[in-house]
Amino acid sequence: MLTLHPIPAFTDNYIWCIHDNQSAYVVDPGQAEPVLDYLQDRSLTLKGILITHHHWDHVSGIEPLLQAFSGIPVWGPANETIPGRTHGLHQGDALSLNWGLEFRVLEVPGHTSGHIAFYSEHTPLGPLLFCGDTLFSSGCGRLFEGTPEQMHHSLQALAALPGTTQVCCTHEYTTANLAFAKAVEPGNQAIQERAETVARLRAQNLPSLPSTIQLERQVNPFLRVKEPAVLESLRQNCGGLPANEVESFATLRQWKDNFQ
Ligand code: ZN
Ligand code: FE
Repeated sequence: MLTLHPIPAFTDNYIWCIHDNQSAYVVDPGQAEPVLDYLQDRSLTLKGILITHHHWDHVSGIEPLLQAFSGIPVWGPANETIPGRTHGLHQGDALSLNWGLEFRVLEVPGHTSGHIAFYSEHTPLGPLLFCGDTLFSSGCGRLFEGTPEQMHHSLQALAALPGTTQVCCTHEYTTANLAFAKAVEPGNQAIQERAETVARLRAQNLPSLPSTIQLERQVNPFLRVKEPAVLESLRQNCGGLPANEVESFATLRQWKDNFQ
């Protein structure tokens, strides 16, 4: 039986771990200690590391983990500098994990210019997506290196995945993201309900993740830039109706950057 578990790191990161009680893989280990503790407590052997982008809070644990588990593969974007990377990946590349699990690489530039996501349609846990800092629950990553056009395109590609896809992103930003989503769409009932669910989970210190693509399509303003309610809100709050989808996305992202 496979387990999918978010190992908390720093203040609001999750290091996703898939394991079968023997072998394990982790995604974006920004810190080694919480991973080593988790593996040790369960006598798990680390078999590989998946990396979505080069930011320090996603890669700083790689080298210490390689000291503990030498020779394991480190899969990461070909177009970024990743410490210890053994496999540089491009759009469409496949990686095979244990258990016959195969992931495909999606290039999702925007947060960084080489950012990738890992997607597997057929797993015992259903379709799985590891998307780093591209798609968050009810939000998306900041544009540090890419353009609004790139990020919009990346998010559209993720939104087109099957609705049941479990969305495993790296940060617990959901509460703040939902506050913004409510400001954008005060009349959206799905956002209100999601906010109540997340408030309950967070009060018990439980993760708000994974989310699903289906839920994100209903509550994530950055996937809803064509919705009449979102456009009307942009018209009222951001000084006019955007000329197209990309402008709509860019205006929304700017509004969020300044949202308290
Ligand atoms: Zn990042
Ligand atoms: Fe991050």
